[in-house]
Amino acid sequence: MSRKTKLICTLGPATEAEETIGRLIDLGANVFRLNMSHAKHEWAREMAARVRRQSDQRGLHIPVLFDLTGPSIRTGDLPEPIDLKEGDSVEFRKSSAEPGIPYSTTVNYDGLMADVSEGNTLVVDNGTMLMLITTKKDDRIVCEVKTPGKLGSRRHINLPGTRLNLPALTEKDRIDLALAIECKADYVAGSFVRDAAHVRELRDAIEALEGSAQIIAKVEDQEAIRNIDAIILAADVIMVARGDLGIEVEFEELPILQRRIVRRCHELGKRVIVATQLLESMIVNPTPTRAEVTDVMNAAYEEADSLMLSGETSVGRYPDRCVEAIVRIAMRIERSGGLGFGQQVLLRDERQKAAKAAVTLADSLPDARLLVLTRRGVLANQAAMLRPKTSGFYAFTPNEGVCRQLGLSRGVQAFKLPFAATIEETIQRATEMLREQQLVRPGTPLVIVSDILSDHFAANSILLHHA
Ligand code: PEP
Repeated sequence: MSRKTKLICTLGPATEAEETIGRLIDLGANVFRLNMSHAKHEWAREMAARVRRQSDQRGLHIPVLFDLTGPSIRTGDLPEPIDLKEGDSVEFRKSSAEPGIPYSTTVNYDGLMADVSEGNTLVVDNGTMLMLITTKKDDRIVCEVKTPGKLGSRRHINLPGTRLNLPALTEKDRIDLALAIECKADYVAGSFVRDAAHVRELRDAIEALEGSAQIIAKVEDQEAIRNIDAIILAADVIMVARGDLGIEVEFEELPILQRRIVRRCHELGKRVIVATQLLESMIVNPTPTRAEVTDVMNAAYEEADSLMLSGETSVGRYPDRCVEAIVRIAMRIERSGGLGFGQQVLLRDERQKAAKAAVTLADSLPDARLLVLTRRGVLANQAAMLRPKTSGFYAFTPNEGVCRQLGLSRGVQAFKLPFAATIEETIQRATEMLREQQLVRPGTPLVIVSDILSDHFAANSILLHHA
C-alpha cells in the first residue's frame, strides 16, 4: 500500500546538497519548496536544477514550488539587536524619518501609520514579542512592550485584525516571480492572499511571463478567512499557512479554521495543504513530541492533499528523520481511514460525475486499481478529490508538466504516457507500464476513467479491464 498524503519539503542550508535532495526523494518527499523570503536567486536556480536532476535520475516527476514573500511587514536593519523589557517604549518609523527615542527601527511599509490605530496590538517576530501601540504620528508609531524579547533586523510584524492596504504583489515578488517562471516553477505560492482579486493579479502576472505554474493561495489572515470561498474558487491550491494564521487569529480558533478550510476545499474541489510547525521540535530534536505526532495524524486524517515542512527540513538538524516521521504517521492513520470529506464534493458537471462513478466502482471491487487518462490533469484532480480508497490510483498523461503538477494531489501517482490513436491502445500501454513496475498482477481489476479525445470525439468513458 503506498502513502496517499503527499509531503512538501522546504529546501535550505540543511538540505541543499544534491545527494541530500535525492535522499529526501527516496525517503518520501513529493514536492520541494523554495522560500523566496530567504532564497537568493543564484541559489534558487541551482536548487531547482538539482531537484530536476535527482527527479529525472529516478524516472520521477518531482515538482518545485516557489513561495513568494508577499506583502509582509518587516522591521529594518539594526546595528545590533535591542533587548526589550516589559514597559519599554520602542518606535517604528518610516525609512525617511529620523529616530525620536533611543529604541527605534524603521519598517518597510510606509503606509503602516495610516493603517493602524492607537490601542492596536503589534506582534513582532512570529509571536515572540507583543506590543501595544500608544502613539501614532504621520511618520512613526510608538509602542509599549508587553512581553520582553530581543528585537533583531528584518523581523516580521503582524497586526491581528487590522486591514492593511498593502499591494498583493510587491516589487520583490514580481522579480522573484520572473525567476520562478524562468526556472519553470510548477507551483507559485502567493503569501497573504486576501481576496480573489489578489489571486487573479498573480495569475495575470504568471500569464504575462508565459508561465504555466499553478497558484497556491496561502491563507494567513482574517481577511482571507472572510473571503475564503472566493479565494478557493480562484486558486488552484489552498495552503493553510498556520504560522501567520496562528498569530492573526486567536490560537484556539486555528484547529477549527484548519478543519473548515480543508472541508470547504473538498466541497469546492480544490487541493489543500496544511503547513507549518508540524514537527517544529524536530528542528533540534531527533523525535517528534506527542502533540506533533497527533497534529500530523490529524491533518492526514482530515485527508489534506499535502503536508508541508518548513524549518524542519530547511535549517533543522534532522531532515531525514522528519520525512520518515511524516511517512510513518501518515501511513499509519491512512490504514485506519480518514474523515471522509471526499463524500461532500459538490458534483457540478458530467466529468465530475463520471469520476465519482469510477471511484465508486473501483472502491467496490476488491484489490482494484483506479486509472485516469488525463490531458491537463483536471480529471485526475477531480478523482483525487473524491478520496478513492483503492490501493493504487494512477494518472496517465502525455505532458511532463502535468505529471509534476499532480505531485501534491492526494493519492495520485502520475505517469508520462503519449496517448495512442485509440483509447484501447492507450489502456494497453498504461497496463504494460503498471505491470513492468509490478504495480498490478495479471487479473488485477482496473477501473479506467478518461475524457481524452478518442477517434476525434471526446470520450467521457468508464471502462473495467483486468490486467
Ligand atoms: C506560514 O505562515 O505558515 C507560512 C507557510 O508562511 P511563511 O513560512 O512564508 O511565513
